[in-house]
Amino acid sequence: MKVLIAEDDVHMLNLLSIMVQSFGHDVFTADNGREAWELYQNHHFPLIVSDWLMPEISGVDLCRKIRKSQKLNYTYIILVSSLSGRKNYLEGMDAGADDFVGKPVDKDELHARIRVAERIINLQMRLEEMTQTDGLTNLANRRRFDEALNEEWRRARRTETPVSLIMIDIDFFKHFNDNYGHLEGDICLKKVSAVLAKTGNRPGDLVARFGGEEFVVLLSGAASDAAQMLAERLRSAVSNLKVKHEYSETADHVTISLGIASVIPGHEQNNPQVLISLADTALYQAKKNGRNQAILFKE
Ligand SMILES: [Mg+2]
Repeated sequence: MKVLIAEDDVHMLNLLSIMVQSFGHDVFTADNGREAWELYQNHHFPLIVSDWLMPEISGVDLCRKIRKSQKLNYTYIILVSSLSGRKNYLEGMDAGADDFVGKPVDKDELHARIRVAERIINLQMRLEEMTQTDGLTNLANRRRFDEALNEEWRRARRTETPVSLIMIDIDFFKHFNDNYGHLEGDICLKKVSAVLAKTGNRPGDLVARFGGEEFVVLLSGAASDAAQMLAERLRSAVSNLKVKHEYSETADHVTISLGIASVIPGHEQNNPQVLISLADTALYQAKKNGRNQAILFKE
């Protein structure tokens, strides 16, 4: 894993780097607290090993700043210090450190403590994954989608590049549930989800369950033509599943309708919900036109 080591004593920094590298981790270094803080803001480090006494921003100050920063992913912090005694230990823990290692650093002890850190970090990552995944379909859930949309919107606004959204709805799904039952309905949702995930798998794109029988695909940096091509591939992939649906008024099998919207956000446009509502309008049009089709929103 990526480990950031912050230490103002060059010899100690080298020593710690060699140790942590020998445990099989990717080491990044900062020779003062301010540099560590800057690196932290621009990268994600699951683990930081930090010296306590450093000029400007001390290890304890760094802990406090990190805990206040509310970044999404947790960073486990091990403080390293020659300061001993109960009072210092408690101050470090109160500042937000997870563990404390005394100087001189014993290699085996540091290794053991990093293994503890790894266990906690892995649990944290699994938990994070669970809160972002839809339990039935294993797709990203609504919460993950909302976060990704906000992030993508900000990126598109900054770089003045397009962001596209495909809104998807299973045709006559209520009829499907009413006639085949909710268990069959779940199986249908799983099958459709799997084929959407497989087809919409360009790196950086996100396929998510929006709710009920609605899905979304968020395309990073893609303009409307790319989004339209993908929408058509999704439509035909779902249709080709040939999941029997005798109660559909569109076909004898399960089909989807898709609405596409593509926007380059203006500088004053800070609400990405507009993209959802445009794609929704296009989806409504696709349904009105007879379903089992993809429509691009046009003003
Ligand atoms: Mg120091």
